[in-house]
Amino acid sequence: MFLKSLIKLIFLLFSTTLFALEHNPHQGGVAVIELKEFIKKPKVFFQSNEVKVLEKEGKYFAVIGIGIDEKVGKKHIVAVNQNKKVSLYFNVTKKSYKKEYIKLKTNKRVTLSKENLQRFKKEKAKSTKVLKSFNKTLSSNLEFISPLNGRISSTYGKRRYYNNKPKSPHKGIDIATKRGTSIVASESGVVKIAQEFFFNGNTIYLDHGEGVITMYAHMKGFEVGEGDFVEKGEVIGYVGTTGRSTGPHLHFGIMLNAKAVDPGIFVADYRNKSK
Ligand SMILES: [Zn+2]
Repeated sequence: MFLKSLIKLIFLLFSTTLFALEHNPHQGGVAVIELKEFIKKPKVFFQSNEVKVLEKEGKYFAVIGIGIDEKVGKKHIVAVNQNKKVSLYFNVTKKSYKKEYIKLKTNKRVTLSKENLQRFKKEKAKSTKVLKSFNKTLSSNLEFISPLNGRISSTYGKRRYYNNKPKSPHKGIDIATKRGTSIVASESGVVKIAQEFFFNGNTIYLDHGEGVITMYAHMKGFEVGEGDFVEKGEVIGYVGTTGRSTGPHLHFGIMLNAKAVDPGIFVADYRNKSK
């Protein structure tokens, strides 16, 4: 479709893909560790998950997602191939995030009914399975683009209180803009989930291979379905306010080895933004 191609072209022209992946081993950050000991790509494990290995100019780097609630201190990864098994270490440092108080009209999505709790658990199991998957047929260079233009209405990591009840911290970034605005794939990948979720509303999970996943929530509707391959910059859906949301916006998340990290680490447009 001509319009779709045009939107895609505009996005590719204007999205900044400045990429300098740095070692940011704080809570909610990313550890980047060169695997100097290997001349062939090794497998790397952190805790119970396999980790993305990035190849750049003949060198290998383990790119490890660090959860927001990871305990500070010394951590280790294991890198292994046919010939070698090496333990490598890094230190997770503390990062403080702000608090945010959100008022919802009802407590429907704050204190869950038995039925909704069951539904949520089922959805959580489906998304966890995707986050823990390790697809070897796809490999991303981790050069993500912003899925849309808009005002950043909430940053990563905020400790959230819904109707004064403490809930889990904000594991992505919120971009507020007009309902119906096109949302594009931040990176090429396979649609693993395109479904209406209880909290996240209409949600898409894209698999970029090797445990690297992006998610898009509160959408109005989808342009793609589960199993589709989408290219970076392709329209996947539209901005809405479905699920636990107080106005039209996109919630965008980046996950590595099943840990949601600060998208600002990867998308230059979101760097050093805070509100
Ligand atoms: Zn959000």
